[in-house]
Amino acid sequence: MKNNKKTAVVRRSKQREVLFKVLKETKSHPTADWIYQEVRKTLPNISLGTVYRNLRLLAERGEIIELHYGDAQRRFDGTPENHYHFNCRNCGKVYDVEEPLKKDMEKDLSKKLGFIVNHHRVEFYGICKDCQYGRPIKEGKNEERYMSGLRRQGNA
Ligand code: ZN
Ligand code: MN
Repeated sequence: MKNNKKTAVVRRSKQREVLFKVLKETKSHPTADWIYQEVRKTLPNISLGTVYRNLRLLAERGEIIELHYGDAQRRFDGTPENHYHFNCRNCGKVYDVEEPLKKDMEKDLSKKLGFIVNHHRVEFYGICKDCQYGRPIKEGKNEERYMSGLRRQGNA
């Protein structure tokens, strides 16, 4: 009995370790499904439910970040330190943005509101370079106008 329990604990931490490594080694901000496929290369018997459970646990511990882009687009990030993201409205890719953090904004807002502001998140949205010069447009007319505007600027 005791031994079985121990084995289960070791297995669980092994699963978490593999999952964490997969997430650390990619810059793509993957979905749980993608992570599941990658983890299965090392642990073929792992279930999607286990992957979800471990992702939630790691996020609760602050070791990874869970990013929400609407229900269908939950993604995970192996870099827990605050940083900004750019989300492409065409291909859905999420890029890290190498911008210094606007820590002053937190202080200003704390002063202005009288709240205690200790964290902020910034998400930029638009069309990535790959999509501007490569793939076809998926989304609405506004985006198409924006795109052709960018193309014109590019060709001028
Ligand atoms: Zn794109
Ligand atoms: Mn990121």
